Order: sequence, then structure tokens, then C-alpha cells
Amino acid sequence: MTSTIERIAPFKNEVIKTFSDPADAEKMKAALAAVRARFGEHYPLVIDGQKVETEKKIRSLNPANPDDVVGLTSSASKEQANAAVEAAARAFESWKRTTPQERANYLFKAAEMMRTRRFDYDALLVLEVGKSWPEADGDIAEAIDFLEFYAREALRYAEPHPVVPMEGEQNEMVYIPLGVGAVIPPWNFAGAIMVGMTAAAIVTGNTVVLKPSSDSAIIAAWFVDLLHEIGVPKGVVNFIPGSGSVIGDLIVSHPQVRFISFTGSKEVGLHINELAAKPQPGQKWIKRVVAEMGGKDSIVVAADADIDAAVEGVAVSAFGFQGQKCSACSRAIVDEKIYDEFLDKLKARVAKITVGDPSDQKTYMGPVVNEGALKSIGEYIEIGKKEGRLIAGGKRVGEKGYFLEPTVIADVAPDARISQEEIFGPVLAVIKAKNFDHAMEIANNTEFGLTGSLYTTDDKKIERAKEDFFVGNLYFNRKSTGAFVGAHPFGGFNMSGTDSKAGGRDYLLLFMQAKTMSRKL
Ligand code: NAP
Ligand code: MG
Repeated sequence: MTSTIERIAPFKNEVIKTFSDPADAEKMKAALAAVRARFGEHYPLVIDGQKVETEKKIRSLNPANPDDVVGLTSSASKEQANAAVEAAARAFESWKRTTPQERANYLFKAAEMMRTRRFDYDALLVLEVGKSWPEADGDIAEAIDFLEFYAREALRYAEPHPVVPMEGEQNEMVYIPLGVGAVIPPWNFAGAIMVGMTAAAIVTGNTVVLKPSSDSAIIAAWFVDLLHEIGVPKGVVNFIPGSGSVIGDLIVSHPQVRFISFTGSKEVGLHINELAAKPQPGQKWIKRVVAEMGGKDSIVVAADADIDAAVEGVAVSAFGFQGQKCSACSRAIVDEKIYDEFLDKLKARVAKITVGDPSDQKTYMGPVVNEGALKSIGEYIEIGKKEGRLIAGGKRVGEKGYFLEPTVIADVAPDARISQEEIFGPVLAVIKAKNFDHAMEIANNTEFGLTGSLYTTDDKKIERAKEDFFVGNLYFNRKSTGAFVGAHPFGGFNMSGTDSKAGGRDYLLLFMQAKTMSRKL
């Protein structure tokens, strides 16, 4: 008998659109106009399948032009957040009894639906968080990949798991869901991470309260609507936008919440971990916390590297989506023998980067996400000017949107603040290393450990880096961004988080517990 999983086509990554095909570009323009036509639309909470309007609203703005209100969501009160957890707890009683096949089918359907609306989702990301067209499509392609990948993974976990046979007994071990999960995604992969975290939780039989980032709540509202459209039962995914500190704290500490799936900053992740550790009256379990957090990612350029390739890799890793990726290169650690040549070439490459409204196809770098980010990144640029030598950028562009120039600061000390703290914007520190040993030492000198890359033509250095470069995702002779679902399971060490390896074979285990059953024969 063939198992279900063998009848399903093997997983394949979606191809990311470059929009060089004029037909794609036309569709994208039409989608941007369609999303603009919906500016100002209101999206209610969804609790137990019911739409709930509130007085208080969260406005999602277009960072390229903050006068544009992309949409408004209701903002959950404490009572409504409690009601959402209770609805999820009720729904869990029936959802946990559905078969993995049934649950996987919802993910397959959701993927199909997202494919048919791909340009609309792309356009929404351009306008809601300021992604360029290809960056937006990469995000949505990854969201579809997560749906397809986790659906297959759920089917794999549903297959029998080998246990050692024992005479006189029939033994089996199965994976069962945990319960109600609080899903708290960031805004920077507003499609992919939000969809991936939600999909992984429900396909394994859990129910969810989804608290989106306040900067990207509209795409989450679209996705929750899509899930209900394809028939996901009420109460399985409850949608409660709201303040991180109020609603976030409430759902994290709620006694009926069994696990928290978080992706975001180190500060918030550590806070959640601490809060979740404290048992509340009526709570029967130790909460499981999956927290994927920040990075301070390095690209090491060895003396024997292909310098042009390294310059290209550093530039796109540092400035793609304005440096607002957890995997972004924010430190280039360059051997002193090639340092000057590298800097000259980098400066010339960065001068070619276009900054502007990302709804224009020609734009490479759009705005940073909001006013707070503009201000905090600006402060880091000022610190950087004192800690090193500004060789590119450093200024705001225009007055309306939150645009910054791609900024490069050279001659930065390995322990400088801009070399240690996550800036999360288009700011690159370049650090000179005495030799390869020194470069490796610098690469490991932060509290983070998310991604890293090494440019070298020497296999021995690659072997050494495999041993010593302490990051969850290590790359050789390529950029440090752009992990693909399945191919590059993703997650970091140290203060970068719990190394959950999203898009990998271990990920769904985080949403399940194993039950062993033995029957005496
Ligand atoms: P953030 O400020 O930490 O927010 C993340 C989420 O947490 C948002 O939904 C936020 O809601 C919510 N939140 C805030 N305070 C909370 C609280 N007290 N309790 C519960 N939830 C709370 O991060 P961000 O600015 O959205 O995202 C950028 C960060 O994410 C960077 O540090 C980046 O490196 C990291 N990141 C890591 C990965 C990875 O895989 N390791 C991937 C992507 C991003 P509000 O928006 O309402 O405040
Ligand atoms: Mg916005």
C-alpha cells in the first residue's frame, strides 16, 4: 500500500519573479492599483470565526508615503484577547481529532489560493512594508513554500515511527498536538514568517491566537480571511491585532496557552521567555517557547577571495530590503591585504544602488519600515560616524517617506557599538582583520549567531569555518540572505534564538509532543 505522502509530488521551491517579463510587470502594476483602491479599508478582529469591530484602530501606513493609510485593523482589548484564547481552547477539542491529511489539505488549498492572488499579495507588501517588487515576491514565494513544505512534513510525521520491537508487547509512538499557541510574527517577512508560523501550528493539530506585528497587520488579516474562505473551521485561527506590550503579555501569560511561537527582536524574545516561564494559577504545563530573534551577521572576506564576488555579496546582503533582514550582512570583516581594494570597489558598487518609492519597478532600496526605525537607525549612523570613517551614505533621502541612503562605515573596531548591536537598517560596518585567524575571531565576537558567510578560494579556510564559524546558517562564496525553505533550514544560535530551523525537518516537532503506547499481548 502506498502512503499518502508518496502520492504527493515532491516539494519544490516556488520560483521568485524578477518581473523582467513585461506581462508580469503589467500584472504587478494592476495589482498595485488594486491595493491602492482599497486604502483605508477596515479589518476587524476574528474571534471564533466572528468578525469583531472595535472603537480603537491600528493604522498600517505606507512607509514610502505615510499619508497613505494602507488599511486599519481593530485593536483587541484584554477581554477580547481572553475571548480569543478561550475560543482557540474550545476549537482545539475538535481540531485535534481531525486527521493530518485533512489538515495538510487546508495548507495545500491555501498555497493554491495564494498562488492565484500572488500579485495582490506582492503589491500589498510593497505598500505595507516598503519591499521592492522582487523582495515582495520572494516573501510571498516563501510563504507558499512554507505551506507546501509543512503540509508534506505533517504527513511524514503521521507515518508510523519505528520503535524497537519487544516480545510480548505491541508498541507504538505517535506525535500529538500541544494545544493553544500564541503566534507572534515580525513585520519584516510579513508574509512568509506570519504564514509559516501559523501554518506549522495548525497543521500539527494546534489552534492559534495570531497577534500580528502592528506594522504589517493587513497582510495577516488577508491571510486569516483566506483560511476561513477555504473552510478552516472557526476558532482554529483567531486574529487579534493589538499592542505588543498589552495583548502580547496577556496571551503569553494566559494559563490556557500551551506554547508561544515568536519571531522578532532579542529584547521582546527574552521578555516573552521570562514571562512564559512563570506558571499562572490554573496552568497545567510548562509552556514551550520558540523564539527566533535578532542577528549581527558577518561576511568574512579572506585575502584569497574573488573580490568582485565578495563586494556583490556584501552589497546585496547589506542593502536588500534596506538591511531589514535578520540575515542581513551588517559587518564585513576583510583581510588587511585586500582591504583598500575591497573598500574602493564596495564604494563604487553602493553608489549604483537606487533609493526611492518601491512601487516603482526600478527601485532597489525602498524606505525603512516606520518613523521609529528611521530615528533609531539615524542615531546609529551618528554613533558610527564617531566609531569609524563614513565612506558612503549617511543621510536621509527626501522628507516624506522614511528613506535612508545605503550607508557604509569603514575602519570600525570589532568591539564598537555598531559592530555589536543589531541596527536593522541599511548600515554596514567594515572591519579590518590582520589575517584569517583574526577574521574568524572577530566573526564570533558578538552575542548573536544567526547567519554568516565566507568568501575564499581556499578549501582549508572553508573547512576551518565549518568547524569554528558559530552561526546557524553559514554560507560560502554567496550572500548571507535568501534562505530557501527546505534547502536552507533557518535559525540561529546564542541570542539569535532557539535555533528552530524553520523550513527544516525538525521544525514541526516544536509544535507536537510524542505519546508512547504499549499493549501487552
Ligand atoms: P519586535 O519589535 O520584537 O516585534 C515582534 C512581534 O512581537 C510583533 O508582533 C510585536 O508586536 C510583538 N511584541 C512586542 N512586544 C511584545 C510583548 N511584550 N509580548 C508579546 N509580543 C510583543 O520585532 P520586529 O521589529 O517586528 O522585527 C524585527 C526583529 O525580528 C529583528 O530583531 C530581526 O532580527 C528579528 N527577526 C528574526 C528572525 C529569525 O528568524 N531569527 C526573522 C525575522 C526577524 P507590535 O508590532 O504590536 O509591537
Ligand atoms: Mg506599514
